[in-house]
Amino acid sequence: MEKICVAVRVRPPILTSEGSNSNGSFWKVEDNRISLHHKPLGGSPFSALSYTFDHVFDQDSANSTVHDLLTKDIIRAAVHGFNGTAFAYGQTSSGKTYTMNGSQSEPGIVPLAVKDVFQNIQMITNREFLIRVSYMEIYNEDINDLLSTENQKLQVHESLERGIFVAGLREEIVNSPEQVLKLIESGEVNRHFGETNMNARSSRSHTIFRMVIESKGKDITSSGDYSSGSDAIRVSVLNLVDLAGSERIVKTGAGGARLKEGKHINKSLLILGNVINKLSEGGKQRGHIPYRDSKLTRILQPALGGNAKTSIICTLAPEEVHIEETKGTLLFANRAK
Ligand code: ADP
Ligand code: MG
Repeated sequence: MEKICVAVRVRPPILTSEGSNSNGSFWKVEDNRISLHHKPLGGSPFSALSYTFDHVFDQDSANSTVHDLLTKDIIRAAVHGFNGTAFAYGQTSSGKTYTMNGSQSEPGIVPLAVKDVFQNIQMITNREFLIRVSYMEIYNEDINDLLSTENQKLQVHESLERGIFVAGLREEIVNSPEQVLKLIESGEVNRHFGETNMNARSSRSHTIFRMVIESKGKDITSSGDYSSGSDAIRVSVLNLVDLAGSERIVKTGAGGARLKEGKHINKSLLILGNVINKLSEGGKQRGHIPYRDSKLTRILQPALGGNAKTSIICTLAPEEVHIEETKGTLLFANRAK
């Protein structure tokens, strides 16, 4: 059983219009440990909280460092036929999308992973590769295809030949990183039709970027015999997931739609936590894994557990107002270990 790699990352404090926000030092990062270091003015002191993870990234960490330590191995394994999944978990504004997608000046895990996939396959000269990508969003337990302009909800199916799959999901065959990044861009446009608040929508949905990596040995005999080990066809799935914001919905003021969104999100993140917790327990003790309880875990099931490699990066907002949510995120991360 593969261990799930769990990391946390503290984003830099966001400067507010009132001037500098110097509250960025509640959380102290030392090596792979993060601790709470403050008692708020007028508030009662917090008990000292301290957690260790596989990696803890401070506010000066770069996306490329996160990628090197958390996702590079997953990419390498995916190219060699193993499924893999990386998640960004955290409240809205904690840096999930920054970590996954990056910015103009600093590419995130998704573009770095895409580049890695193509670099890796170039080094494997005795196999032929076929790469397909898809991009989907789960919003209120509905699956939308971000590579399609048709506003159609997709369903998860299971068959003997295909295993678990999203029926009708578009898969584009790609030959270069640039092509993939263009597709992602077009997906971002498709995400928001009819929505007034794009950011609000994207933080209320889970986004799954997926690459399917298929390969076969180049020296296949004319009889088409794939059966020997090195010539066998390998298919692996790599999922890079930007989860919906983990913040609890404040009931007062949340309208019907917000409340509905919040319930779906809370439920699917809770189930994800349960699935990951069971997987990390390992052994025979863990019993039933509730993949089927949410669309997210159902879709990811083939690439979660078993031989699949999994990394979770939990992003933290350093500001004092976010302390309760940050603790919640650390608890999630701690349960995933
Ligand atoms: P989320 O996706 O979790 O809602 P974002 O990724 O959108 O959060 O981050 C919120 C804001 O903080 C954005 O303006 C983003 O550019 C910025 N930000 C997040 N993480 C970092 C980082 N590591 N370095 C610089 N800016 C960051
Ligand atoms: Mg986001």
